[in-house]
Amino acid sequence: MPAAAPTVNPRQAGRWPRRRLALWGVLLLACVALAGVAYRYAEDAAIGRLRLSGAQRLDSYAASLEHLLSKYDFLPGTFELNKDVIALLQRPGDTALRTEVNVYLERVNRLARSTSIYIVNLQGVTQAASNWREPDSFVGDNVAFRPYVRDALRGAPGGFYGVGTTRGEPGYYFARGIYQDGRMLGVATVKVNIESLEGTWADAGGKALLADAHGVVFLSSVPEWKYRTLAPLTPAVRRELEQSRQYVSHALTPLGLRVVRALDRGASIVVAPPPVAGGPMLSQSRTLATRNWQLVYLSDLAPARAGARAAALLTLLSEALAIMLVLYARQRHRLGRQRLRAREDLQRAYDRLESLVAERTASLQTMTRELRDENMVRQQAEQQLRKAQSELVQAGKMAVLGQLSAGITHELNQPLTALRTMSDNARVLIERGRLDDARANLATISQLVERMGLLTGPLRQFARKADAMLSAVAVGEAVTAALFLVERRIAQERVGFRMSTHPRDLYALCDSNRLQQVLVNLFSNALDAMEMAGSTPRELVVDAGRDGARVRITVTDSGPGVPEEIRTHLFEPFFTTKPQGKGLGLGLAISEQIVREFGGHLRAESPPGGGARFIIDLPRAE
Ligand code: ADP
Repeated sequence: MPAAAPTVNPRQAGRWPRRRLALWGVLLLACVALAGVAYRYAEDAAIGRLRLSGAQRLDSYAASLEHLLSKYDFLPGTFELNKDVIALLQRPGDTALRTEVNVYLERVNRLARSTSIYIVNLQGVTQAASNWREPDSFVGDNVAFRPYVRDALRGAPGGFYGVGTTRGEPGYYFARGIYQDGRMLGVATVKVNIESLEGTWADAGGKALLADAHGVVFLSSVPEWKYRTLAPLTPAVRRELEQSRQYVSHALTPLGLRVVRALDRGASIVVAPPPVAGGPMLSQSRTLATRNWQLVYLSDLAPARAGARAAALLTLLSEALAIMLVLYARQRHRLGRQRLRAREDLQRAYDRLESLVAERTASLQTMTRELRDENMVRQQAEQQLRKAQSELVQAGKMAVLGQLSAGITHELNQPLTALRTMSDNARVLIERGRLDDARANLATISQLVERMGLLTGPLRQFARKADAMLSAVAVGEAVTAALFLVERRIAQERVGFRMSTHPRDLYALCDSNRLQQVLVNLFSNALDAMEMAGSTPRELVVDAGRDGARVRITVTDSGPGVPEEIRTHLFEPFFTTKPQGKGLGLGLAISEQIVREFGGHLRAESPPGGGARFIIDLPRAE
């Protein structure tokens, strides 16, 4: 019996997918979160590496800047050692001396590879300059407003980055007082071009910029960022810068570096202004303490971001792979379980089949045994039946014999009486010497004896129990032999007998005695029927003919015939319509059996002219 299907609660069935959906949602979120963490971690790691390299770069830029500037630091101080310079400051009207100092400054400027060198008196007016030959020479210019000059005049060595007022060229200005016996006579100024540094910065991957104490960018690897400010300037600072004309006419608008995320140790993630593409950058800065400048280095974060994205993607892929592996393993497990279950089912079905086969085999064996038993019983019954039939046939013969014995006795009595009379007569005739008469008498006696012999011969044959040997039997002779047994009745009851055989030598494959037995029975029945019904005229017609490979013998009488309801019972044993003591009801049953044993059949029909007709059909013999 198949296992009952588990009942499914519809609410449960509805809930299942929702729960699974939620589970998948959570899993997806976890995956995305993990990918996010991976992204953050990879980005942080990349930023860490960038910070390290950025810090190194800041160090090296600062060092190269300091190195460049320190080369010139001492230079302004050397001019107070020159007597001509001192003399010119003391005697400003000496033009020859001025020329000499100019030439000297020109030479030093060339040798030191500075931009310009000039000497200013205490009023801030330039007394001599390295560019004295140029049309826009500084000589005679008042530069007292320049902070570095102002500082130096105040006794503090000035250092200042600014844009030149004459040519608009930027540079770093070193200024230092020129002293004679502890008294300041003027100021020596050296201007150095440090823009060459920008070139080396631009070569590196990142962007670098240098801003002054006010946040004004004056050096940058991106030219567009120069003279912009890191933060908006206060009005006071702006005024001060305008007065000192440090950056001449540059507008000093804010650069617009937007801080996206502040990191520790002064670093931050910023979005750089144009013309740099607006991607995020790592900003690191370093203050150059000696000059109060701020060196800023910006590293491109795009590769770090790409790396982080790749890491996130890799994480997602790994997660997907892991999920797929888990699903695959689960599916395999499930499939394995299903296969196992199927195998178990198959085994169970096989076992069931085997037990069924065993059951069926057992029942078949029982049936076979029963059949064998039945068969045995049937065979026994058949044997008994055959024996009974054979006995019945014999009994039938005996019955016929019994019937006939009276007639035979009568038949024999008459010649016997005649024999006694004639033999007595013969003795008397011999005694009287009438030998011829006696001879004639003896001849008659001999005829009578022969006739008696003719009577007993067939009787002996008939009474013998027939064996089953079949042979070619001359049908005409068999009919004649049978007729002999009923001849007396035919004569007594005035029955017209006719017989025809076509062809004359017609042979049937049967046993002569038993065919005669059948014919005698049919003749007797016909005579009985006609006698009992008192039919007139009484006729008995026997017809024998050939029908292909068969022989057909018909026995027709002019009796009452066989009604339909009787005809169906004719061949049943012990069926008779004759009064008790007259018939046993075995004649036709035995006859039918005998004909069947010959391989033929016996049937009855009603001929159109009335009466009864019995037809014996037999195999023909050559
Ligand atoms: P029995 O002669 O001892 O009765 P049968 O088997 O020879 O047994 O005959 C069975 C019955 O068939 C007879 O009793 C009779 O009624 C019927 N029968 C047989 N032959 C004829 C016939 N030629 N005409 C009419 N009835 C017949």
